[in-house]
Amino acid sequence: MDFNVETDPPEIAAFRKEVRAWLQENMRGSEHLRWSASWSTRENEEEYKFRRNLAGKLGKKGWLFPTFPVEYGGAGLTIDHQLVLETELANDGISLNHVFYTLARIVAPVMLKWGTEEQKREFLPPMVRGEVSVWQVLTEPQGGSDIATCYTKAIRDGDHYVVNGQKTMVGYHHPPEFLWTLVCTDPSRPRHENLGWLHIPGNLPGITIQPMYLMMGLKNTVFFDDVRVPAKYLVGGENNGWRVANTHLELEHGGEGRVGTDPLVERVVEYCQQTRVGGKPLMEDEKVRDFIADMMIELHSVSLFARRNFWHRFVREPHPYGGAQFRYYQRMVRLRNGERLQQIMGYDALAPNLSVHEVIDFEYVVRSGPGQLHGGGTLDTDRLVFARRAGLGRPTKEKPPETI
Ligand SMILES: Cc1cc2nc3c(=O)[nH]c(=O)nc-3n(C[C@H](O)[C@H](O)[C@H](O)COP(=O)(O)OP(=O)(O)OC[C@H]3O[C@@H](n4cnc5c(N)ncnc54)[C@H](O)[C@@H]3O)c2cc1C
Repeated sequence: MDFNVETDPPEIAAFRKEVRAWLQENMRGSEHLRWSASWSTRENEEEYKFRRNLAGKLGKKGWLFPTFPVEYGGAGLTIDHQLVLETELANDGISLNHVFYTLARIVAPVMLKWGTEEQKREFLPPMVRGEVSVWQVLTEPQGGSDIATCYTKAIRDGDHYVVNGQKTMVGYHHPPEFLWTLVCTDPSRPRHENLGWLHIPGNLPGITIQPMYLMMGLKNTVFFDDVRVPAKYLVGGENNGWRVANTHLELEHGGEGRVGTDPLVERVVEYCQQTRVGGKPLMEDEKVRDFIADMMIELHSVSLFARRNFWHRFVREPHPYGGAQFRYYQRMVRLRNGERLQQIMGYDALAPNLSVHEVIDFEYVVRSGPGQLHGGGTLDTDRLVFARRAGLGRPTKEKPPETI
């Protein structure tokens, strides 16, 4: 029996070959930066440049946003092409989601859904080509979970909005070309109907960016002092910011889905085969094997949740609670894996190993367990959204917002 069955239709098989050849060519000499397209708290300039450069090259080919319309810089390809790109890049440790080192991957679809034709033509092509860095600027100092209580004001003055306020724990490497943000456009209106969404050029007078060095790497506080933002940068229309926010948050909170895999277990297995304790490889300890098996099962489940959400998104049938369910589970698994690593290797799990990439560094896994519980909303937010969408504790089920 021949098990070498070609599952791709001919044009997709040809595309896969093209992508593989392209990657081989473009990763040559950068093999040590495998996995570097991911979030890093090490502030490594080499990784940052590699990532941005790769994003530019992928963007030029339309491969950062393969299914986006050609008129906005996308490649106009199919979901099959996208799956090829996602899986082939994942083999090289690269995730399309992170390769920008910016949040344009979330922002561009929201712009596609809520932007005017003029905004889409102006803002999308540079994002889609990976040329600009966009920060999502939502959290305010008095509390991030409740972003609808927005103290940053943007009051209309002729052809401009005048923005005053402060956002915190945002962004990453400087400089951002754009700040993608929620503002209060009419304080006299009821909650949720008083908001607007602005795409603010990062270099406008009155914007001050102050770095914050946190456990999870570089973040920033952004101050807006009488910043005059042209009214044409309002996305989604007057006082419609909450609906734009819903699309944005659904994508950020797991609704985007993904296809890549987690490389952690591979390294744990290798470590346990090579490290001897009391003259025996760690792998011979049955408790260690149990921990590894649990890790594998849970990481596999995370990956299946992510793939399911990816699919729901692309067939335009939003899963009622899939995003929050995925995020909650993913974050709990990360936390448990940090604890498992400490059980397996003791203090070794607390010492950074700079010779491996951060994603598979045990110290990073332990630190990011608690460290990433707050990013993009807390576990409690996940639980609330899940409960509302699944109809737990309320007579009606909340509907998921439309994404794109
Ligand atoms: C690594 C990292 C990256 C980040 N990146 C960004 C970014 O790029 N852009 C950005 O805008 N923000 C960013 N943030 C901020 C993040 O979005 C906020 O931390 C998050 O929304 C939670 O807000 P908070 O920290 O103010 O906590 P709070 O909202 O003040 O919550 C404090 C506690 O109260 C609980 N709580 C709050 N409300 C409820 C409720 N209704 N029911 C039950 N419990 C509740 C929370 O779960 C938490 O335990 C980032 C944060 C981290 C850690």
